[in-house]
Amino acid sequence: NDNTEDEATSSVEAIANNNDFQGPITTRFPPEPNGYLHLGHAKAVSFNFAVARAFQGGNGRCHMRLDDTNPTKEDEEYVQSILEDVRWIQQGLEPFTAADDTDKEGPWYGNVRKTSDYFQLIYDAAVYLIKTGDAFVDELTAEEMREYRGTLTEPGKESPWRDRSVEENLTLFEKMKNGEFENGRYALRAKIDMSSPNLNMRDPVIYRIKHESHQATGDDWCIYPMYDFSHPIADAVEGITHSLCTLEFEDHRPLYDWTAERVLKADLVSCQPRQIEFSRLNLKYTVLSKRKLIKLVEDKYVTGWDDPRMPTLSGVRRRGMPPAAIRLFCERMGISKSDSNIDFTIMEDCAREVLDDESPRAFAILDPLKVTIKNWDDSTKEDFGVPRHPKKNELGERTVPFGKNVYIERSDFFDLEGPEGLSNGGRAPKGFKRLLPGGKVRLKYAYVISCDEIVRDPETNEPTELVCTLYPETRAGVTPEGEARVKGIIQWVEASTAAKVQVMQYDRLFKVEEPGKDSGEFTDDINTESLKIMNDVIVEPSVAMDALSMIDRIQNSSTEDKLYHSALTYQFERSGYFALDSSSTEKNLVFNRVVTLRDTWGA
Ligand code: ATP
Ligand code: MG
Ligand code: MG
Repeated sequence: NDNTEDEATSSVEAIANNNDFQGPITTRFPPEPNGYLHLGHAKAVSFNFAVARAFQGGNGRCHMRLDDTNPTKEDEEYVQSILEDVRWIQQGLEPFTAADDTDKEGPWYGNVRKTSDYFQLIYDAAVYLIKTGDAFVDELTAEEMREYRGTLTEPGKESPWRDRSVEENLTLFEKMKNGEFENGRYALRAKIDMSSPNLNMRDPVIYRIKHESHQATGDDWCIYPMYDFSHPIADAVEGITHSLCTLEFEDHRPLYDWTAERVLKADLVSCQPRQIEFSRLNLKYTVLSKRKLIKLVEDKYVTGWDDPRMPTLSGVRRRGMPPAAIRLFCERMGISKSDSNIDFTIMEDCAREVLDDESPRAFAILDPLKVTIKNWDDSTKEDFGVPRHPKKNELGERTVPFGKNVYIERSDFFDLEGPEGLSNGGRAPKGFKRLLPGGKVRLKYAYVISCDEIVRDPETNEPTELVCTLYPETRAGVTPEGEARVKGIIQWVEASTAAKVQVMQYDRLFKVEEPGKDSGEFTDDINTESLKIMNDVIVEPSVAMDALSMIDRIQNSSTEDKLYHSALTYQFERSGYFALDSSSTEKNLVFNRVVTLRDTWGA
């Protein structure tokens, strides 16, 4: 009954605590190493691991399996990136304790597995099917096969080679394996039902000839099994109880079951796994298909797989998204059976939540305007010890130096004589609480100042410096008796101790919700202004110090102890969350804007 099915798949808990299974619940994450993982895969990773973890308080298992059955597009580079991404996305969670304690490298249960480990067994299963009359060697061409297959409304036609004898099939299949035929000359097909309403059941091809070196098995094989045949076998061999996959495999399930039943009967495996489908993640304003992501990289629309604008896991990692934010996002998306097109802003909200909790605060000035305190002595410096995080005392304090010259954000000063001021009749906009000519503002943690004089660029008339008076009695938040409290509070950075950094601000990679939908070619919808580079950003010294020690740590760390630059994140007060970029060097610190403080995309 469809309803109970939907309910059963509606939550991690429902699946993990369904008593139909003796357990231990065993799931697997089975990417094909033919590209980098993206946020859609993160959903599959999170789901598979979460179900296993939810079973009897952590007594389930989740396997890591590389589904490497097609040597044409697979590569060792992808294998490494996939393992790294899965480790990263599960970072901070308890690993499964493997019975044999074989693999300490990943959060998965046991060793990294590969479908190619089972090539012999999958071959044996094929031989078994030939012997039971359930498979035959066909010699229709690919084109003929397509014609014979029929359509949704028309039944298929049986191949003239369908009734070869078992002996002849065995001999031909063996010769296929021994490399006696060129690609496409023969194929092994399951003998099921050419009139089935389900096209997948119309004698599907289960093995094809492919003279190609495999990144794991080299030249051992020149025939390779099809996904629909190898997947249930690999699942069954590993004792997978729940084979979670995306909805497009729903009508492959009968073939999955057909295969799984037969390998069980053949005594090649000892259990029969069950396939359960969940909806794919689709994200608006981006693309989540390996083919398209590869094009973005190869045609240099982005700087690489880990370009911070990419929806790849290496991209969002480099951008500074914490793994906990991605897990939170996957949790929120749920695992319903209806496909949905999700707004990236939901991912950003999750990032804000996690970053707000984790990230230390710091002062950074994106667009600096110099302030000179006229009643402060040039040689006097004052250090303020201020909290790194307003709610987390355990993060400790940082030292913020103060002196005669500070930078403030240009937008925190309103120039009454500037174009905006003039068009507003020489008045500040309603509700503007920060610094005005003649007005007062509080420099957070330090003093109240007032603006006495504006120095201007003689050519553009733009303010280049504000000359201000400081009120010593207002130190550290004090409002002297009888005086009105100064409402505006702004961030600032002392000039002589400041560090200059580069900031990358990212916008959506595409201009439209569904790239390619109307234009036909998804690359036509690329947002050419998705990156804004700011070269003169000023940060307080604690940021530069932390960044330099992070760079040093990474340079001196072994590969097993891999640290990520992007794990160094800050809330630059009133601007957003920023992460140290991996291109940073001691001489040139680069920060990525992970996300703004609030959602501004709609604005
Ligand atoms: P693509 O369509 O991008 O080529 P794929 O499905 O072929 O992706 P696999 O490497 O086979 O990629 O995927 C590994 C696992 O991740 C599969 O179980 C697959 O269902 C799941 N997965 C892939 N894309 C998504 C997505 N957008 N949402 C949820 N799960 C996904
Ligand atoms: Mg796939
Ligand atoms: Mg694919």
